[in-house]
Amino acid sequence: MVIQLPDASDLSSHVHFNPEQGKVWLDEQRGILQTLPAMATIWREIVTSIGVERSRNLFMRSGFRNGEIDAELARKQRPKASLTDLFLAGPQLHMLRGMAKVVPTKLEIDPAEKQFLMEFTWVDSYEVDISLAEMGVLDLPVCWNLLGYACGFSAAIMGFDILFREVSCRGKGDSECRIIGKPLAEWEDAADYGIFSSSDSLIETLYDLQAKSIGQSSFEDGSEERIFSTLIGESAVFKKMCTMANKVATSKASVLLTGETGVGKEMIAKGIHMHSERSEMPFIALNCAAIPQELLEAELFGVEKGAFTGATHARKGRFERANMGTIFLDEVVELSARAQASLLRVLQEREFEPVGGTQTRSVDVRIIAATNEDLEEAVKLGKFRADLFYRLNVFPLHIPPLRERHDDIPLLVEFFVDKYESLYTTKTLGLTDRAMGHLLNHPWPGNIRELENTIERGVILTEKNQRITADSLLSGTSAAAQPLDVDIAIDGLTATTSTGSGHSSWADTIFEQSVSMEAVEAELVRKAMALSEDNVSKAARLLGLSRPAFAYRLAKLQTPATE
Ligand SMILES: [Zn+2]
Repeated sequence: MVIQLPDASDLSSHVHFNPEQGKVWLDEQRGILQTLPAMATIWREIVTSIGVERSRNLFMRSGFRNGEIDAELARKQRPKASLTDLFLAGPQLHMLRGMAKVVPTKLEIDPAEKQFLMEFTWVDSYEVDISLAEMGVLDLPVCWNLLGYACGFSAAIMGFDILFREVSCRGKGDSECRIIGKPLAEWEDAADYGIFSSSDSLIETLYDLQAKSIGQSSFEDGSEERIFSTLIGESAVFKKMCTMANKVATSKASVLLTGETGVGKEMIAKGIHMHSERSEMPFIALNCAAIPQELLEAELFGVEKGAFTGATHARKGRFERANMGTIFLDEVVELSARAQASLLRVLQEREFEPVGGTQTRSVDVRIIAATNEDLEEAVKLGKFRADLFYRLNVFPLHIPPLRERHDDIPLLVEFFVDKYESLYTTKTLGLTDRAMGHLLNHPWPGNIRELENTIERGVILTEKNQRITADSLLSGTSAAAQPLDVDIAIDGLTATTSTGSGHSSWADTIFEQSVSMEAVEAELVRKAMALSEDNVSKAARLLGLSRPAFAYRLAKLQTPATE
């Protein structure tokens, strides 16, 4: 049965184009005229960024709101119409908007009895066009915005919740798009309806996942060992430190880790967490120096909605996420006076207030703090609260720098070579003797992190089944023992220069020849691509950039700016 639609001119006469003012109107609501290819771009970006399911929820919610807005318009334009005609304004507005041709095939409504049964088909749904063009046939219905609209419009007209389902959809290979709508209560499983009321905050989910993965991952593969095996070493000084770490792990005390940058404080903090009774709960790490002062408190203690401009949602802080677990605060000396006061309160009373909030929250979190500065000195200088220092310093643990445990270098090298071989799915024959000799003689001011970066670079630069040579390691060490020859070829300029002291640096050459920064960057990007055989991720790592940051520079290079 096909149901006759009423005349739609009462609706279509309210579309107004006002190009002089730069506006398009649907009655009193401003709209814009958007082409499908442009919408498809947004659609694709959303789907690839947040995944199909979240995109579906997002578009359904947006459609739902749209339906509610159109229900107002329908009431205004059809004040005296029968309920059926009033209701049909919804499908007609869909058609007017160009979203699909709607063919109602069943319409049984009786608000008094809360009866509602509606079926119709969508012909030429714009969402099918977009989704087929962008993703091909999917394994689920794709008319998300249309479906959300049907729910929102119907609920607003009827005054009770109505759920529509798309029972067949061309976007998943069916011959037509057909939907059925019934009151929520009449569906056996109406969980879908929750989509419309949840905010589905991606950032919240990401934080939760982060909390979970930091707390659990890497240990799921049956290897608690892993954490302490990253703490590799046989030297006496290192073994002593491990014994202490093991002892403190099983206590409840706060721990203060001291040591130079790059000695692996976070690894040790994780190790302590994993060997504590809190190991099943989250481990949350925060480098206090990596976050601007003004945001640090919000990051630690969360934000109440409306606490400051832009705080549109309440957001949990790291302390709440770490509840029952462990929080690791690196470079704790960077905390502002106010953050120090709040931290002291957490330590003493196990409670805090989110930024902009007045309600006190309770948490049970073990604190492991770390610093590479002398905290006692900071106390003397008045930079750090003495009472907080004593609270944190219940169990101080000093992590020795790598130069005090040279004996451990071969073991660490073996570990990192394995790690990066498996990360880059390659297999080398290990280091040449000269390469190992270089590593043993290097002072390692950047400690284990520097060693790890050096090995990673070596693994990347070494062909399969070849040995990692001193040259491949040297090419990036911060204080290479020998001067490093660099070939620079920029716009025809070729200069073999050297980074070693006593030689003119290649930077000098660049200045002498007035080579632009852009040209230098371009050359670095090209060289990195060549060295990594056009593997973008590897090339990015060679330059110490994230993949997106590198890809951006690469793209800039491949599409020269037009002038
Ligand atoms: Zn469909």
